[in-house]
Amino acid sequence: MLGKKSKNILLRNKTNYISEIIAKTIITKSKLPGVDYCFNPYVGCLHGCAYCYARFMGRFTGHANEKWGTYLDWKVNAPELLKKEVPKIKERSGIVVFGSVTDCYQPIEEKLELTRECLKIFLEYQIPISILTKNALVKRDFDLLRQFKHCELGVSISILDKYHQQILEPGASDPQERIDVLREAFSSGLNTYAFLGPIHPFLTNIEDIFEKIAPFIKFIMAELPNLHCGNWDNFSKALTKININPNEYKRVAESNDFYQKTNNLLRKLCQKNKIEFRGIFRH
Ligand code: SF4
Repeated sequence: MLGKKSKNILLRNKTNYISEIIAKTIITKSKLPGVDYCFNPYVGCLHGCAYCYARFMGRFTGHANEKWGTYLDWKVNAPELLKKEVPKIKERSGIVVFGSVTDCYQPIEEKLELTRECLKIFLEYQIPISILTKNALVKRDFDLLRQFKHCELGVSISILDKYHQQILEPGASDPQERIDVLREAFSSGLNTYAFLGPIHPFLTNIEDIFEKIAPFIKFIMAELPNLHCGNWDNFSKALTKININPNEYKRVAESNDFYQKTNNLLRKLCQKNKIEFRGIFRH
């Protein structure tokens, strides 16, 4: 839940702005499968993925008329709230997922260290955590992540072509940097996974991705595009920019045939590479 927005604009430039807010709570009960709690220290996401379906959150966070990817609220009192909420989570037990409607490794996190401060509190209580990010900044926190008894570190990747990635995920780290995160995390002993999502018709080459990441991951999860939560207008424009016909994309993405072929291929590659396959989400 959010409290009131303070007047303090931390940073503003031509394309986006970041402001402070005072939150009322910082951990929410999750309805996602296999997840008990979600932790979102920021509101919005400056990675600005064209297909992102978290944009619907704008309606509930005072950003209804603002474009997704142009605003970010910093929950300035997150560590203070966590100190109160984490002991209760410890009593009830359960896994906390970092970032269900944002990415906890926003570019400004390098300066603010908000996620890092919160990680220290989770660590003190040894709360089991699961992180999913598209930003190589997570490497900064490997020293903390290694000290958790239960910590999963996932990197989201579904496009290897840098030009396509920059159009569709303009604020996130480039594909090679994300592969490097997995490699370095794996070699430093972390429990790593890849989230292949969304798997794009015409763009995602699952075999090529496997070739690059298979040695560094223990399990994978995947997701097909979710085109039904107010993201289609924006996403179809981005597809046009990279010469993909949006109608054709949609037709294929929503077909049973695409789901079956993708599912079969993922299973086969996981088996071949001895990687656990935890399933594919379809909307
Ligand atoms: S990184 Fe995740 S939360 Fe952020 S814009 Fe992309 S898909 Fe949405």
